[in-house]
Parts: sequence; structure tokens; C-alpha cells
Amino acid sequence: MAHRAAPDVGVRVTEPTDDMSPFEAASYFFHNAADRVQLRDEVREVLATCYRELAVQIPVRMDDGRMAVFRGYRIQHNGARGPYKGGIRFHESADLDEVRALAALMTWKNALIDVPFGGAKGGVQCEPGLMSESEMERLTRRFTSMISYVIGVNRDIPAPDMGTNAQTMAWMMDEYGRKNGYTPGIVTGKPVELGGSPGREEATGRGVVICAVHAAKKSGKDFSQMSVAIQGFGNVGFWTAHIAAEMGAKVVAISDVGGGTHNPDGIDLGAVRKHLQDGGLSVASFPGGEEISNQALLELECDMLIPAAIQGVINGANADRIRADIIVEAANGPTTPVADNILHQKGKMVVPDILCNSGGVTVSYFEWVQNIQQFRWELSRVNDELTKKMVFATDAVMELAADKNLSLRDAAFNIAVERVAFAAHLRGYI
Ligand code: NAD
Repeated sequence: MAHRAAPDVGVRVTEPTDDMSPFEAASYFFHNAADRVQLRDEVREVLATCYRELAVQIPVRMDDGRMAVFRGYRIQHNGARGPYKGGIRFHESADLDEVRALAALMTWKNALIDVPFGGAKGGVQCEPGLMSESEMERLTRRFTSMISYVIGVNRDIPAPDMGTNAQTMAWMMDEYGRKNGYTPGIVTGKPVELGGSPGREEATGRGVVICAVHAAKKSGKDFSQMSVAIQGFGNVGFWTAHIAAEMGAKVVAISDVGGGTHNPDGIDLGAVRKHLQDGGLSVASFPGGEEISNQALLELECDMLIPAAIQGVINGANADRIRADIIVEAANGPTTPVADNILHQKGKMVVPDILCNSGGVTVSYFEWVQNIQQFRWELSRVNDELTKKMVFATDAVMELAADKNLSLRDAAFNIAVERVAFAAHLRGYI
């Protein structure tokens, strides 16, 4: 969905529309929470804007000899609760406004799951699918060197997001190390061989499923008996699908940027993996299902819908047609404020992004702890601690929502905003 150009920083939109920018949408949820928890005006002003915004020009020599110039960002939204933390997105839509929105969501997410970090995000506007591995490496190294002044183990710790992965983090760590010495704790989501944590790769998907199981129970249903449609088959979608299937749920649809596949009897995920390994360009051409569009996937007859790709896919144009009773936001910002209101009025349960996709940053925190202590945890310890944190946060959100008759998103934002405001107050900023 097209959105307007980046608005002035800190402008509040009170009447949501579907062409709100991602930062306006994230700010809309923040301001509503600020009203509910009666935040003082000066505190609101600080939390409504980003602390530091670095925009860089990244010239990269392409394989054909041409010099391409990319635009990159590292945006630190709020650091009251600890060093800034958030992923790096390589995507054509990763502009200033989108990265601001994602940075703010990281502040709320980190506070809600209660890891000792502030919120940040990075992005480079590029199309990774059209670039070779060596172009990606040159881009990553140049970007890292340009943002190296604002990152640091106790200052700001990047991680993977859309379009980046463990290999990207290995290049970032290596490039940062050239100037600063070997520093594994500078990024998380690294390969395990370079100090990454066991369980980090699948952590976001695992956290999504832990939340999904809880949400199902809350609505009197058994997750293992549910049919689930998942949009996005990258890191988050792939692992969410596999772990959901392991728990007994029936994954009836999956998709990627090339389209989706639907099989009401359940998709054979092992066969999908083989299809992709054998050169299939998209899950859309998987022979074990019927091809569907990304739009049609969102509107399928199923018990649970899990958007795990990009923002704004559930909006005023399709919210009325969503048939799943439970929507679990594995992606960041997949539901626009307009759609959120429609879904709420229709009695749908929306498990918000800042809660349900926080498993990734939680295990990133465990990775950072392991790097600082130079001590490797076992996978079972990582998964146990992850489950504890996810269950604790989910219970807190559900209890507050029930107590104050709030949606899960509103309850989650209330908790997060109050925690950040209190930390900022204790530190004497505001
Ligand atoms: P990824 O790059 O590994 O995968 C993205 C997936 O989305 C791919 O399957 C891609 O084909 C698909 N996609 C891209 N554009 C699309 C479009 N226009 N329509 C439909 N599908 C499209 O990214 P990821 O790490 O899996 O992240 C997915 C979402 O989860 C993002 O919103 C990200 O911010 C969020 N998230 C990721 C993590 C993490 O640990 N990686 C943590 C929290 C939240």
C-alpha cells in the first residue's frame, strides 16, 4: 500500500487513514497509549521523536564496474532502558520514515519483553534480490564503516531484519573489528561459529508460535487443531511454519514475494524446502498446492492468519474480508491503524507485533550476554529462557487487556510506554 512521504517529525495524526506513513502509524499507537497512561507533555514530546538519526550515502562498485549510490540509515529512537538495539533492513522500501517507525517499535518491543535495551533500527534502500553476493558484501562493509561512529557493544547493537541474515552480521562484525579489534558483541544474529547463539535463527518464529499457542488457549481453542495461513517465507515465516507444524497445527497456506500456495489439507513443508532447493524461485510454483496471490492468502478461510513479511498488508481495503479469528503479527506493522479498528470492532483477536515477534530480540539479548561473558549457552537453556520471557510478557498483556477492557495492542503499548517513561524519569532526562 502506497503511503505519503515522510512527515515532519513528531506530527500527531488523530484520524487514521490508510495512506499514513509507517512512522505516523507507529506514532498513532504510541499517542493513544500516552493518552491512556496520562503521560506528561514533555515526556510525550521526547518519546514521540527519535533521539538520533544518521543518514549516509553509500557508494558501491557493482560487478559490472558501475558505481551505484545507496542511501542508508541508523536511527536510535530511545535509549532510556539500555543500549540501542534493532535490526538492519535491506529493502527497496527502507526509507527514513520506515526506519524511524521500526526504531520506535523496537523501543516498545524491548520494554515490553523486558530486555535491557533501547530501540533502534537501520536500513539501506536497495533490492537484495537483484544484487550478487559480492555486491552485498561491499554494500554491507561500506554501510558498517559509515555507521561505526554510532554503534558499539554498550551503545547500539544491530541484528538481522528483512533482506539481511547471519552472513550479513558476520561481514558487519568483521568490518567493525578492522578498526576496533575483535568484537563479537557488536552485532547479534551472527553465525554460531562466530559467537552467534544457538537458537537465534529460529527464535522469532519460535516466539511467534509461543504467543500463538497462548492466544489460541485464550479463545478456548487448541493450537494443535488449528489451520494457519502464513504470509512471508523468509527467516520468520519459514521458522514459524515449521514450528507451528511441529506443534500439530495445519499450515494451509504460505507465500513469498512471488506469490503463495494453498492446500486445505496442509502443506508438506519438507517438500516445499526441496522444491526451493531444486531451483524453484518461489513457493507459488510448489506443485503440492494451488497457486494463490498474497492478497488472497490474507483472506483465506482459516483459524489463524500470520503476516510475516512487510508492513501495511492488512488495511482499510481488506480488513473486512479477513476471515481468520486470530491474527498474529509476526511482521512489524502489518496492520494499519484503520484496519486495527475494523478488526477490533469485528471481535477479532490481534496479537500485536511488539509482543509476538519479540522472540528474535530476546535471543539476541541472550547472544549479547554470551558474547560479553564469553560463555556459550546450550540450546535447551536458550529455548527455556525464551519461553519463560514470552509467556511472562504474553500473560501480562492478556491480564491488563482483560482488566481494563483493552485490545491486546493497547495493553501492550500501555505497559511498554509506562516502562520507558519511568526509566527516562529515573535517569533524569525528563
Ligand atoms: P526475510 O527477508 O528473511 O523474509 C521476508 C519474506 O517476505 C520473504 O519470503 C519475501 O519473499 C517476503 N516478501 C518480501 N516482500 C513481500 C511482499 N511485498 N509481499 C509478500 N511477501 C513479501 O525477512 P524476515 O527476517 O523473515 O522478516 C519478516 C518480517 O518479520 C519483517 O517485517 C521483519 O521486520 C519482522 N521481524 C523479523 C525479525 C527477525 O529476527 N528476522 C524479528 C522481528 C520481526
